[in-house]
Amino acid sequence: MSDRLDVAGQALERTLCNHCLGRLFAKVSTGLANEQRGAVVRFVSPRRQAVPEPAACQVCGGLFSEVGKFTELVVRSSSTFEHANFLVGTKIDADIREAEEQLWADSGASESEPIKGEMNRQIGKAVEAATGKPVEFRNPEAVFLVDTMFDTVVANIAPLFVYGRYRKFSRELPQTRWPCRECRGKGCPRCGGRGKMYENSVQDMVGPALLRHAEGEEEYFHGMGREDIDALMLGNGRPFVVEVRRPRRRSLDLAAIQEEINSTAGNLVEVEGLRPSTREEVRAIKSASAPKTYRVSVRFQADFDHRKLNDIVRVLAENPISQHTPNRVAHRRARLERVRKVRNIEVGNVDGREVVFVVEADSGTYIKELMHGDEGRTRPSIAEIVGVPCDVTELDVIWIGDEGA
Ligand SMILES: [Zn+2]
Ligand SMILES: [Zn+2]
Repeated sequence: MSDRLDVAGQALERTLCNHCLGRLFAKVSTGLANEQRGAVVRFVSPRRQAVPEPAACQVCGGLFSEVGKFTELVVRSSSTFEHANFLVGTKIDADIREAEEQLWADSGASESEPIKGEMNRQIGKAVEAATGKPVEFRNPEAVFLVDTMFDTVVANIAPLFVYGRYRKFSRELPQTRWPCRECRGKGCPRCGGRGKMYENSVQDMVGPALLRHAEGEEEYFHGMGREDIDALMLGNGRPFVVEVRRPRRRSLDLAAIQEEINSTAGNLVEVEGLRPSTREEVRAIKSASAPKTYRVSVRFQADFDHRKLNDIVRVLAENPISQHTPNRVAHRRARLERVRKVRNIEVGNVDGREVVFVVEADSGTYIKELMHGDEGRTRPSIAEIVGVPCDVTELDVIWIGDEGA
């Protein structure tokens, strides 16, 4: 207690407003605002007489009298976009921060709160009162950064996340926009000036609609993995999250947008289950390792004894698959060996040299290579077991096992 009286005595020697005086004892008691706390401290002065609050303050220079003005700036900025909650941050003039640190050092205060904290709280409360929206610390939809020196406010709008699943009915459609390799998006003869390798993508058919309705500035497509361009995505569809940066609208009629996407995407892409999502879910989707089920059409290069197809089920049940990075992806992936498990394989339609398989495999299995063996880089393979080289003619994803799998 005597330490606190020393601090109070030191502090009362200076011209400090009640805010700056009270903040020196911010951690002593709860339930009081710093301003009230400062008023109380004036009565415990060692001289046993109340010290009046001075007109000026040598720490903040009267900054707290400007809270109303800062609040006004925030409220004006907040009216330009939709948000349900917010947080206020402040950038305090350097000389005020220095004066405060000097005061801590001189007075020996150890239970104080920095001016930034009190200013954030004061403006936050005033904005709450003015707008009726609550302060949110964990996941604010907007963060207002007040610069107290230049009287400016910058609004950081949280991105909007929308989850859904897509099916893809085209063998000429990549999942995401694919900039031209030659010109990297600027436009060149190779890409016909379009700047991209493919006219369209799943992203192109889903993202812009959300971007437009949310009145955002940029849109990103996060898929739970991706299928090859020439593979269909059927069954329960592939999970994705679209991220819209700087949205001015957040409360979207997702059912209506879903209908709009499905009616304009023609027969190429279909989405379902659009609902609000979070950044955490994007992380979960990016790191998910769901097993997938494929329907693979294969053509063998020679006639063969169909009884050999029975060996496939047995061999793959007993042996994990060793896959060295396929040549076709070696330019963008490290060369390494991965071991995957075929969880189930069924022989479907058999017509001479043409066979359809249904394969359920671990996440990350190279299915085409599992079929043709990739010149020995994948072992065992269907071609190896049957003893005849084969080619994949069609590959479709028919189930993603992320739900209770
Ligand atoms: Zn002050
Ligand atoms: Zn180009």
